[in-house]
Amino acid sequence: MDTLNCPSCGSRNVGKVGTGQFYCWDCYIEFSLSHRGIRMYSVEQDGELTRIEPQLGSEGALR
Ligand SMILES: [Zn+2]
Repeated sequence: MDTLNCPSCGSRNVGKVGTGQFYCWDCYIEFSLSHRGIRMYSVEQDGELTRIEPQLGSEGALR
């Protein structure tokens, strides 16, 4: 589990920032992987994370 694609833009320019947590350098989002799926967060200027709600029907389709 070294490289994976960004669930938002599909870029491979993704870095690991924590256990199960990754950051996309192309669209500047952070995302985490779990058995329940992918959660995406936007990073605010003050470093705060804001949950990005997945669109209905898209959750589970992302692998
Ligand atoms: Zn991205």
